[in-house]
Amino acid sequence: MPGGSPQTLRPFLWRAEQLYPDTEVVSRTHEGITRYDYGTYADRVAQLANALDDAGYGDGERLGTFCWNHHRHFETYFGIPGMGAQLHTINPLLPDKHVQYIVENAEDETIFVDQSFLPKLEGAVADDPDPFDSVERFVVMGESVPETDLDAVAYDSFIDGHSTTYDWPELEEERPAGLCYTSGTTGRPKGVEYTQQMLWSHTMALQTPQGLPLAEDDVVMPVVPMFHVNAWGLPFSATAGGAKHVYPGPQPEPADLAHLIESEGVTITAGVPTVWLGLMDYVKENDVDLSTLDRLVVGGSAAPEAMIRFFDDHGVELVHAWGMTETAPVGAVSHLKHDLEDADYETQLEKRSKQGLIVPGLEFEVVDDEGEAVPHDGEAYGELLIRGPWVTTEYFARPEATEQEFENGYLKTGDVVSVDEDGYIKIVDRSKDVIKSGGEWISSQELENELMAHESVSEAAVIGVPHERWQERPLALVVPAEDADTDSLAGELREHVLDSYPKWWVPDSVVTIDEVPKTATGKFDKQTLREEYGDKSMVEGRVPEDAAPE
Ligand code: AMP
Repeated sequence: MPGGSPQTLRPFLWRAEQLYPDTEVVSRTHEGITRYDYGTYADRVAQLANALDDAGYGDGERLGTFCWNHHRHFETYFGIPGMGAQLHTINPLLPDKHVQYIVENAEDETIFVDQSFLPKLEGAVADDPDPFDSVERFVVMGESVPETDLDAVAYDSFIDGHSTTYDWPELEEERPAGLCYTSGTTGRPKGVEYTQQMLWSHTMALQTPQGLPLAEDDVVMPVVPMFHVNAWGLPFSATAGGAKHVYPGPQPEPADLAHLIESEGVTITAGVPTVWLGLMDYVKENDVDLSTLDRLVVGGSAAPEAMIRFFDDHGVELVHAWGMTETAPVGAVSHLKHDLEDADYETQLEKRSKQGLIVPGLEFEVVDDEGEAVPHDGEAYGELLIRGPWVTTEYFARPEATEQEFENGYLKTGDVVSVDEDGYIKIVDRSKDVIKSGGEWISSQELENELMAHESVSEAAVIGVPHERWQERPLALVVPAEDADTDSLAGELREHVLDSYPKWWVPDSVVTIDEVPKTATGKFDKQTLREEYGDKSMVEGRVPEDAAPE
């Protein structure tokens, strides 16, 4: 290695501790607001590393987290990968069977769990204990452990009494540091592993002016969950820049976010459009001071133009970004190019509504069905292929998925995009059929299978329809079985789906149709269905009343 030290996360924390020991980390938890500085943070991270060391970890073991955004979760971000184990952030909002599959596939040895998610995890274990065979202990985030059937210890007592210094090992760049599962469009979730070097290079790219740079005078509030691709990498880059961190904790409501922005002087925050739609409504009805807020980062789904205008009117720059679990995640950010700075507002808005310019360090291609590159004219579209130091080239323990989704070192994103003359990438559609509701995936295929398992259903197709608040919601198009009672069908299907899935997976509407159109190869023709039913207004009026969610 010609360079003096490997590309790992450790120097980011080292720098913050050296230069900004008094800068704060603020966190909203079930215990109220916790506030300490980088100095204390670094001490607790060292205590955690010592505790993990004592538990026998440090050689690539996967340790899961099942948590919201707060200071203890942040401690695992540097503590686990820093001591040589692997941080596996598990999405607690997934259906139990996905959680079971993910834990089994990752073979997690410890799971750190929030008190509020403890019943959910207990339920998943009780339903099927086998996938949790590898788990040696559950660590409950807090000072104490509520009554539980699980063999659990409180986080604070787990780290308590351990030294506040730790002899951090010099890890090789290839050492897996993180793991995050993305919902499969077909079948099972797929794990994406992040090495030390991937997280290092992603952090450095974020810190460029073309990324989402964070400085010591920034106050960063990641609303995007820490179980979604490391909260888009912000906990790492905020530390690298020496910024103040604000973590909004369990299930933050718009009022909580508004309060934290005001009381902590948040300068930059990030999340999916649903979060900001909620905040917009709140700001319209309440007197909220957004004067400290410079930037609001939106990604995960397209930022509606009206949202960009709204925040512009309130003096907050909305920054649109694109990324995937597979790209760690940030791949493009919609900054205005220098020569567009004098353009009229509408032209600027058109550019800013696109998903952005590729960040430095990555390369992309856009290819049509024959694999030919399409022109960058803002019209032609094709699939986005992307590669770079922090873009994965494989799926964890899934060779068959790896074969289908990578080509010549490029990740096949499944996103259909156009690129304009200025290089702005715009997502036209997803070649996948998954439904994205409030930043979470709903697999249309799984829902179809579930619906078709009901005796009154002969065929069912599920598509996403636009929704003002949640971006997309599932609409079920159902061919009833011959003797089905169509009056009660929607209500029965709702109960049926609820038996196996969380409430937010239940289709908002069930529309009865005579036949599901098919493609030449006999597959459900979702394109035709989308054309006919994809516009929400066309569905309204056809929806039986009892199909609407409570
Ligand atoms: P995930 O792996 O869950 O982060 O989802 C990645 C997918 O979200 C991408 O492949 C896109 O389809 C979608 N996505 C991410 N950012 C945006 C955005 N700004 N606009 C539209 N879709 C987006």
